Amino acid sequence: MNNRYSRQELFSPIGRDGQLQISRKHVLIIGMGALGSGSAEALVRAGIGKLTIVDRDYVEWSNLQRQQLYTEEDADKRIPKVIAAKKRLTELNSSVVMEAIIADASVSDLLDWAQNVDLIIDATDNFETRMTMNDVSQKVGVPWIYGACVGSYGISYTIIPEKTPCLACLLETVPLGGLTCDTAGIISPAVNMVVAHQTGEALKILVGDVDSLRNKLVSFDLWKNKYSAIQVDKLKKEDCPSCGKERSYPNLSFEKQTKTAVLCGRDTVQIRPGVPIVRNLEMLEHLLINQGGTVQRNPYLLSYTMDSHRLVIFKDGRVLIHGTKDIAEAKAVYHRCLG
Ligand SMILES: [Zn+2]
Repeated sequence: MNNRYSRQELFSPIGRDGQLQISRKHVLIIGMGALGSGSAEALVRAGIGKLTIVDRDYVEWSNLQRQQLYTEEDADKRIPKVIAAKKRLTELNSSVVMEAIIADASVSDLLDWAQNVDLIIDATDNFETRMTMNDVSQKVGVPWIYGACVGSYGISYTIIPEKTPCLACLLETVPLGGLTCDTAGIISPAVNMVVAHQTGEALKILVGDVDSLRNKLVSFDLWKNKYSAIQVDKLKKEDCPSCGKERSYPNLSFEKQTKTAVLCGRDTVQIRPGVPIVRNLEMLEHLLINQGGTVQRNPYLLSYTMDSHRLVIFKDGRVLIHGTKDIAEAKAVYHRCLG
């Protein structure tokens, strides 16, 4: 037990002092898919003090090929990702304080969570949340590490408020495109490579070795054997609305938040209620059984199959409508089933 971190302490840029630093730090990971699973496991094994994990989805069979924390049982029972992840991560290192949140990362939530953390790791699958994270990072003054992958391609970049250009600064100059959806599929080594870049940078930040940070936008394609690192420090814009002299934080506008979203590559639409509600899943189960169709329930969510659609209803009122990418159709199903 006492030599648990001996190999990490022997690594001189970390050492005993660095290990102590790591044990006092709190990291927030947004998204617990492939990238989130990898980063969470690395940080928990490294002895992080506290980890907060956030995800809006549950485990499915198509996740098991690359999302390293999850098991067949998790997929069978449709366990929310953060619940399954917390269980596994606690088995790996019981001394880490773990906080698991089943939620969409809304603007107000992100602002709230970011207050008490030392670092945010991006493991989301959508650009909207990344841009919100970018503004939150600048406003609260907490670093974040961008990461994304699709197919055999991956990209990562570290953003330190008041030092590096932010993600908004890079949008026009650097090609970040093609990463919005996963119709191209994905292979796990591409995930692991992005995770390695993100957690490597995370350790540097956590031990305070900022001089060793990469300062470059790194990208690669493992199948095509291409690697690139672009020097971006001259791209910081004085008039950037997120990190410039006069800031409007355009991505923190609450009106901009969408109530509906088509989930990445899932043939699924998410509908979020306009006002926060808490659903009583047990009561809802009885109501839905009376309407016909089949219902399955676990402590976190309820799955309801009716005709060709399946609805998954979470306690916080969010509903995933599977079997369509059409928002209008999804809304019709939502109102037909839930009133
Ligand atoms: Zn900027």
